[in-house]
Amino acid sequence: MKSGLLQTPIGEGQDCLGEEMHRFASELYPICRSITGRGIRETLARIQQRIPLKLTEIPTGTPVFDWTVPREWNIRDAYIRNSTGQRVVDFQQHTLHVVNYSAPVHATLSLRELKPHLHSLPDRPDWIPYRTSYYKEDWGLCLSHNQLLALEDDNYEVCIDSSLEAGHLALGECFLPGNSSDEVLISCHACHPSLANDNLSGITVATALAASLLQCKLRYSYRFLFLPGTIGAISWLALNKDTAQRVRHGLVLTCLGDMGGFHYKKSRRGDAEIDRAAVHVLRHCGEPTEVLDFSPYGYDERQYCSPGFNLPVGCLMRSVWGTFPEYHTSADNLDFIHPAQLTRSLRLCQSIVDVLENNRVYLNRNPWCEPQLGKRGLYGSTGGESLDREINARLWVLNMSDGAHSLLYIAEKSGLPFSEVLSAAELLRDSGLLSEVPESS
Ligand code: ZN
Repeated sequence: MKSGLLQTPIGEGQDCLGEEMHRFASELYPICRSITGRGIRETLARIQQRIPLKLTEIPTGTPVFDWTVPREWNIRDAYIRNSTGQRVVDFQQHTLHVVNYSAPVHATLSLRELKPHLHSLPDRPDWIPYRTSYYKEDWGLCLSHNQLLALEDDNYEVCIDSSLEAGHLALGECFLPGNSSDEVLISCHACHPSLANDNLSGITVATALAASLLQCKLRYSYRFLFLPGTIGAISWLALNKDTAQRVRHGLVLTCLGDMGGFHYKKSRRGDAEIDRAAVHVLRHCGEPTEVLDFSPYGYDERQYCSPGFNLPVGCLMRSVWGTFPEYHTSADNLDFIHPAQLTRSLRLCQSIVDVLENNRVYLNRNPWCEPQLGKRGLYGSTGGESLDREINARLWVLNMSDGAHSLLYIAEKSGLPFSEVLSAAELLRDSGLLSEVPESS
């Protein structure tokens, strides 16, 4: 793949790609996902309509490192009904109304007995919180604080029509073979119910990225994972220890549709090529950005970067989880994510891939003083960018290409965007002034 093949400019006022990603998020939004069950399966099936996806079903009870694949959770209905028969909390209105992975219950309780099972956000009285009870059997319902305050002293019928049974944990893999068996891993969680930024934005951007790479001749092989957070990544790693050793670069994608600037959280290694590529692309992306050091909390980079694996996997986000008030509430909805932001996030991912695909080491075949560029027609502009800028890039590439420094290193050192360094290198190579240093395997 040559530089820029992935990139076509966003047409002013007509962001079809972003609209399509947002439409896909809208399609997935109503589904009640969880770490197991029909919701995540249906989500994977819809991803499969867009990209090739291999589905894996791992049986309940399978040991995966220190964990065990949990029971399968399915839900049909949940509600609280007052003594007049009116549903005052109704799962059919919002998937967040039920504590995710709740055990089944059907009882009549006084308000006092019911209250310990109700969750609301007093600070945000219109929003429904997102709560889970994955690893401790419990049940509960979530509601807006205003709904809670409106509950009168009454006897309430509470029903959670769910099941927790032996079944399977489902995950999806999209594998795109490249020239090399070395892999780039792109991972996102697909276990949250109706939450747009924290979940659906990662899924839609990853799906669109995979779709865009489908048509490209690739240097690396690409593996996209759509899985339930934590237990899904642990399960995949447990069952694919050998494959994991082929991961040369990786990214966890999440929270990519909100209005915030980009955040890149480095891998545990801190100086992996993916870290340098992401930091470089962020620096030139024209949006506010921040680079964060690795920490052992967050998304599935926690598993990929556990010391036994220590894979070079970073995490790309816009707003960081837990730092925006909408996080894990009903306000993280389809209005909270924006087509243009999804598009820019996709473009940024494509730029990072562009760096990985094209980052090579060259050797200046004429290293004794500067080669005479003028007599080769290389001391003028090829049009477009200013003369100085293009010549500057050529001089940087010639000077640094001693067989040891990569194009990414030259981009970092010169302050030039990778794409300009790459264009210069390709021109110099085609003029016979550079030769490519073969990759050591
Ligand atoms: Zn989350």
